[in-house]
Amino acid sequence: MDLKLFNTMGRELQTFKPVQPNKVGIYACGPTVYNNAHVGNLRTFIMVDILRRVMELAGYEVKLVMNITDVGHLSSDADDGEDKMEASAREKKMTVWDIAEYYTKAFFDDTSSLNIIKPSVTCKATDHIDSMINLVKRLEEKGFTYEAGGNVYFDISKFPDYGKLAKLNLDDLQAGSRIVVDKYKKNPHDFVLWFTQSKYENHAMLWDSPWGKGYPGWHIECSAMSMEYLGDTFDIHCGGIDLIPVHHTNEIAQSEAATGVKWVNYWVHGEFLVTPKGKMSKSTGDFMTIKGLIEQGFDPLDYRYFCLTGHYSSQLQFSLDAMESAQNARKSLMQKIQTMREKTGGFPQGFNGDLSAHYNSFVENAMNNLNMPRCLGDMWNLIRDDSISDEEKLYTIKKMDAVFGLSLDKEPVKLDLDGEIQKLVDDRTTARKNKDWARADEIRDKLLDMGIVLEDTPQGVRWKKK
Ligand code: AMP
Ligand code: ZN
Repeated sequence: MDLKLFNTMGRELQTFKPVQPNKVGIYACGPTVYNNAHVGNLRTFIMVDILRRVMELAGYEVKLVMNITDVGHLSSDADDGEDKMEASAREKKMTVWDIAEYYTKAFFDDTSSLNIIKPSVTCKATDHIDSMINLVKRLEEKGFTYEAGGNVYFDISKFPDYGKLAKLNLDDLQAGSRIVVDKYKKNPHDFVLWFTQSKYENHAMLWDSPWGKGYPGWHIECSAMSMEYLGDTFDIHCGGIDLIPVHHTNEIAQSEAATGVKWVNYWVHGEFLVTPKGKMSKSTGDFMTIKGLIEQGFDPLDYRYFCLTGHYSSQLQFSLDAMESAQNARKSLMQKIQTMREKTGGFPQGFNGDLSAHYNSFVENAMNNLNMPRCLGDMWNLIRDDSISDEEKLYTIKKMDAVFGLSLDKEPVKLDLDGEIQKLVDDRTTARKNKDWARADEIRDKLLDMGIVLEDTPQGVRWKKK
């Protein structure tokens, strides 16, 4: 069966064809380790994880490379502002190296709580400074760079395809939507490959280079490391959509200028997790972390389930109510699985015969641009289908979970369901007393979804299972 991906380059659904038979090389832009990731960042890494799992379902051997940005990412994705790592180190009174170590560990703690499989290669920018310098040298030899004000810049006028991924109209953008334009740039879209003139005193991370002591621009690390581990041309590059106009655009320019060949065949971008204030981000102050979710009584896998309910290419609205629905759905799923396990004696090792149409539909949906909401629908249809045996259901669920990554074969935590129902019934009584009919109806509907019906009796409200 063909696997189709929406390629940002060209903006169309395309059938995936690997560079090497049966293998796939994926590069994902990783975290900047200056702070805890918020769940918006993590949505993108869940998308990357789903992509790698679907590739495995399709029979590919996956090599996933992800970088850790521990130098050079300024507070704007272009060259304005301060280095995020340096600013965080000053604020927290730690060294940049300690900041990097601390938040790298925090990132992997978060991703492992979300069942995100570790990449095949995780590479730190600061371990690859030589590769970056060599790449800048190649660009210099080919005439794509200039030095000004102490920095080395990429000259976009030398690369005619500049902006093809983002479909940038360079004439419109010539004046720049950004107000502050570095006076040394010949074109506002030129970007720094190597800084020697730090705008800030006491910059801690500095290396020798042919252009003087300094540090790399942010974009060069991804070009240098992806080509080191995956070759000059590889299959898939992914990240969040905010990376398209600057970071990925610049990565393409410098990689293809250096090698003269096409760098990446498929670009897969994840849409944002949003709040009422827009894109979830640290700067609005409206963000949530995994630790925050746990404090609110959620399991990180409730968040993973929530992410699966939205297609990666659409925005997903984050709220605690939405998290609660995901939590209830996952609890109910785990309970249904538990009941089947108790009846049958557990997950079967194998299954004789063809699997149901629900599994075929699941595979088709996964292969069709990673349509996880539909795949979840297939699993629920399977569970509700009375014509299928519990053994077959359990066997199929385990196969599906290789993609979902929800640990569906783990024992569910013992749930205090009666207590939870009674609390909802009490909340509804209070809502009715306060004449908050909308809230009372909402709770009744929620209980109905849980299979609970209410009876008004002279002694008060009673509940029973449908
Ligand atoms: P950073 O650590 O800032 O470099 O970001 C890591 C990843 O998170 C990047 O791929 C971003 O595109 C992505 N990202 C940032 N904010 C969001 C959001 N609200 N929703 C989804 N992805 C995001
Ligand atoms: Zn990158």
